[in-house]
Amino acid sequence: MNKPLFAFFAIFLAFATTAAAQQWPGEVPADVRESLEPMTTVLRVGHLVDPEDGTVTDNVIIVVRHEHLTGDSEILEIGPNVTIPKGAEVIDLSDSYVLPGLVDSHDHLGITYKKVPESDNYYQTTLMDSTPIRAIQSVSNGIQKLAYGFTMMRDLGNSGNYGDTALRHAIEQGWVPGPTIINSGIIIGAFGGQFHEVPEWESTVYPEYLNADTDDEIVKAIRRNIHYGAKVIKVCVDCQAYPYTVDQLKLFVSESANAGRKVAGHVQTYEGARRAIEAGLWSLEHGNALTDDLHKMMAEKGIFRAGTDTPLTWYRGTERSYKRTVDGLRNAYENGVKLTFSTDADYYVPGLSRGEVTINFLQTWKDAKIPAPDVLRALTINGYEVCETSDSRGPIKVGYKADIIAVSENPLVDIDALRNVHFVMKDGQVFKKDGVVMPIDFFNGGPEYGWRKR
Ligand SMILES: [Zn+2]
Repeated sequence: MNKPLFAFFAIFLAFATTAAAQQWPGEVPADVRESLEPMTTVLRVGHLVDPEDGTVTDNVIIVVRHEHLTGDSEILEIGPNVTIPKGAEVIDLSDSYVLPGLVDSHDHLGITYKKVPESDNYYQTTLMDSTPIRAIQSVSNGIQKLAYGFTMMRDLGNSGNYGDTALRHAIEQGWVPGPTIINSGIIIGAFGGQFHEVPEWESTVYPEYLNADTDDEIVKAIRRNIHYGAKVIKVCVDCQAYPYTVDQLKLFVSESANAGRKVAGHVQTYEGARRAIEAGLWSLEHGNALTDDLHKMMAEKGIFRAGTDTPLTWYRGTERSYKRTVDGLRNAYENGVKLTFSTDADYYVPGLSRGEVTINFLQTWKDAKIPAPDVLRALTINGYEVCETSDSRGPIKVGYKADIIAVSENPLVDIDALRNVHFVMKDGQVFKKDGVVMPIDFFNGGPEYGWRKR
């Protein structure tokens, strides 16, 4: 940018910012000013669950604050004897088990494939559904997941032309409610992505996948994604007969790290997974190709497993494939791999919301005989770690963001307690109470928390 243009741009920005914050032709009415004041809420908690050490503390008071001007939230106090701040709303959860919000570490909010008309073939979905319609659908999907207690998720591609970034902006700017989104932008893959193209229509790979075959193309694809809002880089390691080499995967890691991003790798073959582990990817997506020796290597390197371990239900799976899934998850657990709760719940099941389809994945963890405290850890602590928010969002600690949920039974004893989340607080605002979603405060006519939130 040349100097005069830059100066003009800087002045314009300064003006726009000031105008948005302060200058109106008339005086701002008192009730509007009041509605912009920080809001304090007090939770009277019967049983506070700590997924980190698997303990429960009885009779605790939690004080949280929500800032209307920025959308920020903070847990101010936690303890047995806390002074209730004047004017604070008090919410009685004395009969409940209260815990931090849940994480789905692998899903795609911007795609929903279905039996009719596309026979669950998502390639067809991408041809029929525009990015705008998918972005709107992703808002609905996010709300459905939040209602089931999922306050954070990794949204790993297949959202059309950066529909995932648009969703994240809308949530972060405060137009719509939704989980905290760690999005990948467009999935990067070798020629063809995950599709099987015909030469006449090979351009249809975009925008679902960014073809990147050479080192230059890999660097450009990563930078392009980051420029358009990706918080994590997703690579399809071995979706074609020409998987990435270890050196190429190392380039993915170093180029992403240059911008402070980690790399999530879709793997579907033994060799692809082996290379991804050797290159030091952050997380491996899908468990089907992961064997005992690969799990041992992952555990040693501290690589996260987002197994997307699909349960056997009336709408998905066969006995044979399910046994493989359960055995794989069990093997990973026994080898001490860092497990995340992850789903790929990106399809429509008549009669079920996205939240229900998501929480049904608990079944696989139960069938793998994983103790409830460890399942809860995968749903929380390991989720915050793979999303890289552990020092600011997730755990219920003073100074942290306020994403808090409640259930009626103890999830450390019976993990199915999480099927009935009756209270959800997102960033210090009540989203669900007494089992009823009541999000009117979450909808706004514009970027309430500022258009710079990106
Ligand atoms: Zn996926």
